[in-house]
Amino acid sequence: MSYSESPFDHLETAHTEPIGDTPPAGLFIKTFGVGPLRCNCTIVGDPVSKQAIVVDPGGDADKILDVLSAEGFTVNRIIHTHAHFDHFMASGEMHDKTGAPLCLHKADQPLWANLETQCGMYGLPYKPVPAPHHWLDDEEELAVGQSTGQALFTPGHTPGSMSFWFKEAGLLLAGDTLFQGAIGRTDLWGGDYPTIERSIRQRLYTLDESTRVVAGHGPGTTIGHEMRHNQFVRA
Ligand SMILES: [Zn+2]
Ligand SMILES: [Zn+2]
Repeated sequence: MSYSESPFDHLETAHTEPIGDTPPAGLFIKTFGVGPLRCNCTIVGDPVSKQAIVVDPGGDADKILDVLSAEGFTVNRIIHTHAHFDHFMASGEMHDKTGAPLCLHKADQPLWANLETQCGMYGLPYKPVPAPHHWLDDEEELAVGQSTGQALFTPGHTPGSMSFWFKEAGLLLAGDTLFQGAIGRTDLWGGDYPTIERSIRQRLYTLDESTRVVAGHGPGTTIGHEMRHNQFVRA
């Protein structure tokens, strides 16, 4: 049985190499596919204070830790766009190794509580993940050294899906809410199509069109490109 987070399986597997090394606005930003479903993990770091946030450690903890240690970063938060297992498979190990708190929107608590079941459904080993240490709020600030991002509540793919917006860097980490040419599936537990459509229209398509988007899987895109060309939700 194969598992797909997006409507297009090929998006999940096409990108096994790093998809973005983009250093805008003074922030270190590195995105690379991790884990069996090639979830895009992103490290957002401040080269001055050496603080970093890890987003969606969906596997390959060693790979993530290697990048962090190469840059000399200390992790101050491990944040999750949502609680599907493919975004969480290295979260327990990352917490153990860095001591950084795991953060998630509370509406995905039931999915977090069922991570072991989710892994079991796909025949993948479950590595225990402690309970999230902090529940993220809509519009909560995400400080990385001198820079600040913002958590945006964008439910629909799951009840607690969030996107993470770094305005000065012109970057959105959209998780499985928005993909290049597609949107997240809503046929999984707690998914809802009208809700994801509203999230995309009201919270994402209102951002600057030049905002670069890192999707939960597969290649990146921009807000403007999706507003005009997305197969499911256009502005
Ligand atoms: Zn996913
Ligand atoms: Zn997902």
